[in-house]
Amino acid sequence: MLADNIPPQLQWKPDPITLDAKVAEAKKKLLESIKRSVYVYRVDCGGCNGCEIEIFATITAVFDAERFGIKVVPSPRHADMLLYTGAMTRSMREPAIRAYHAAPDPKIVMSYGACGCTGGIFHDNYCVWGGTDPILPVDVYVPGCPPTPPATIFGFACALGILDQKLHASHHVAPADDQTFVAFPAIPYKVRTSFEREARRMSGYYFGKKIVDEFMLTISKDKEDVFGAIDRLIGNETDARKRAVFMDLRALLMSKVVKG
Ligand code: SF4
Repeated sequence: MLADNIPPQLQWKPDPITLDAKVAEAKKKLLESIKRSVYVYRVDCGGCNGCEIEIFATITAVFDAERFGIKVVPSPRHADMLLYTGAMTRSMREPAIRAYHAAPDPKIVMSYGACGCTGGIFHDNYCVWGGTDPILPVDVYVPGCPPTPPATIFGFACALGILDQKLHASHHVAPADDQTFVAFPAIPYKVRTSFEREARRMSGYYFGKKIVDEFMLTISKDKEDVFGAIDRLIGNETDARKRAVFMDLRALLMSKVVKG
């Protein structure tokens, strides 16, 4: 056995961290029904980086874990949850413990990936202490090599009682006569959307919408002399950029009238 050749002071001693009753109780409550955002701090204890890639896929645009309020933070001081990836290597044991102590109580510990859960393919490596749980009090295990982003979100949801909270959600059923208000109903739908697209193309989503609303309000008000009203709108406009958008919309309307 390799351990027989290692001096006793260097041999593997897990020395797990234990929780006092008060912290354990507070943690139980946090795990059952957190009703706010969760800040997660990630510690890579010695994996192959595959888990990190999946975590980043989880928090970026496609899977977007932030919609559930799950945010990754750069310091354990801000964390509600510590997420340990990779097998626990000898050199990362101390930093892993320091990160644990740096996070405020109550905190949740998650073991992520086959390596975090058990040591994975590195479990019998000479420099590996196993998974996270010989050293830290783990609450949630997310298995997989690496876990997929949906599995990661599922792990978070289970850990935080989010699933349970979602299951209690009620769905609004709209009554049959519930109508959505349509802005400028007198202007045909296709004309309205072409104005909106053009205005937003010229001046961005926010200002484009404001400008096109002003334009459509003007043409809705004065149905007898639509082009006269537009010309007055253009003439009274002091902002050259806005005037350019109005003129463009006027030309667009003109093209539709001529075509129509
Ligand atoms: S669980 Fe798999 S992907 Fe994750 S660190 Fe270990 S070997 Fe890499």
